[in-house]
Amino acid sequence: MRPFNYTVAAGSEAAIRALGSTPGGRFVAGGTNLLDLMKEDVAQPPHLVDINRLPLEGIVLDGDGLLLGALARNAHTAWNPLVVERYPLLAHAILAGASPQIRNMASNGGNLLQRTRCVYFYDVGVPCNKRRPGSGCPAASGLARQHAILGASPQCIATHPSDMCVALAALDAEVRVQGPAGARSIPFAEFHCLPGDEPERDTVLDEAELITGIALPANRLQAHSVYLKIRERASYAFALVSVAAALELDGNGRIVDARIALGGVAHKPWRDRTAEAILLGEQPGDALFTEVGQHMLRDAKAWGAATSSSGFKITLARRAIVRALTAALDGTPAVLGQGVSA
Ligand code: SF4
Repeated sequence: MRPFNYTVAAGSEAAIRALGSTPGGRFVAGGTNLLDLMKEDVAQPPHLVDINRLPLEGIVLDGDGLLLGALARNAHTAWNPLVVERYPLLAHAILAGASPQIRNMASNGGNLLQRTRCVYFYDVGVPCNKRRPGSGCPAASGLARQHAILGASPQCIATHPSDMCVALAALDAEVRVQGPAGARSIPFAEFHCLPGDEPERDTVLDEAELITGIALPANRLQAHSVYLKIRERASYAFALVSVAAALELDGNGRIVDARIALGGVAHKPWRDRTAEAILLGEQPGDALFTEVGQHMLRDAKAWGAATSSSGFKITLARRAIVRALTAALDGTPAVLGQGVSA
């Protein structure tokens, strides 16, 4: 690990000022991803501003919705009674991620900012456009089983690793941030970037902008929400494909609200409102869910070497969508931490 300056910030404005004074500096909260990146020499921030003393840990009502503090820990968020009651999809998604120890440390803001787990990104001995822009993307013709099938570019085929973010995308969350130019609110669908020609950029955050909270609007999806995560081992593994699926039904059993977002398939949580529109006003069933799965994967593309391609995820994702929607129709799993898993 390289030497760096370390500042403990007493307030948000002081934290933003401190970070703004050193280009390339980073805020640190739980440190569950950033410190690994520094130890592996993937990240070399010259200055860390510790934000753990800022009063951003609350989970509070916000009009009809809920505001999650950026410094509330993932575990604290998943087990919060308001989250469990109003946003069970989010609680299940958080508990599908990482390990209990990591969830106890990881902050909500940090979860949004974690970086891809592409093996080439972590290996400083090989090229990687995300780590060293312009150096190449060995994954595009190499080991790509964990990589994208939607929204990728030849510059980068990495996936976003978060489970929590897949649920937040489906729930129409907004990210509240504060920076040198003031405060703003960013719709979740616009917060993470696709790689395009600038794969080193993961989010639309400007330099020294601090995430202060995540706002969740009210919904009526509580009875039919499921997070389905398919991975290569039963725990402590990133998703090959995940699906956040939620439905609201009227008194006649017709779908009046529908949310579907995919994880493990793109550089950002993949929400497709045209697929959701297929469901609206319809009676749920296998044929309808299959049509949605086909539609969501209509532009999917395999990457990587023939022996380690991401192509198997296309069929996997189609089937996972049908399974998640079918499970959501049956009802939200009652027991936290025992959601629908592979
Ligand atoms: Fe780097 Fe992205 Fe290619 Fe992985 S997929 S090697 S992160 S450029």
